[in-house]
Amino acid sequence: MCIFCKIIKGDIPSKKVYEDEKVLAFRDIDPKAPVHILVIPKQHVDTVDQLEDMSVVADLFAVMKKIAAEEGIAGSGYRIVVNHGKNAGQAVPHLHFHLLGGRELSWPPG
Ligand code: 5GP
Ligand code: ZN
Repeated sequence: MCIFCKIIKGDIPSKKVYEDEKVLAFRDIDPKAPVHILVIPKQHVDTVDQLEDMSVVADLFAVMKKIAAEEGIAGSGYRIVVNHGKNAGQAVPHLHFHLLGGRELSWPPG
C-alpha cells in the first residue's frame, strides 16, 4: 500500500484539512510555502497516465477552490501543481495536487 493510501486509512497521521467520501486534503509534511496542502483522490491512481475516471478531477478542483478560500489565499493567488513521473520529480506514486500559496511564487519553476 502506498504512503498516501496509508494516510487515507489513518495508519500514518496527517494534518487533515478536508475529507469527504472521494477526496482527502492534508498539509504537506515539508511545506514549500506558508500554505502547502496536498489534495488527493481516495481511490488510488498512480499518475495522470493511469487516470480513467476524469470526474475525480472535478471533485479535486472543487475541494481546492473551497480550501483556497478557507485558507485566505484566494485573493492573493495560489498555484496548483501536479508532478508526473521522473522528470517532474514525482516522489509519491499516488496522484496528488499541490495547492501552494501565502507568498509570491516564482515562475518558471526550476
Ligand atoms: P511529489 O514530489 O510526489 O509531487 O510530492 C510529494 C509530496 O508529499 C512532497 O511535497 C512531500 O513533502 C510530501 N510527503 C511525503 N511524505 C509525506 C507524509 O508522510 N506526510 C505528508 N503530510 N506529506 C508527505
Ligand atoms: Zn495510494
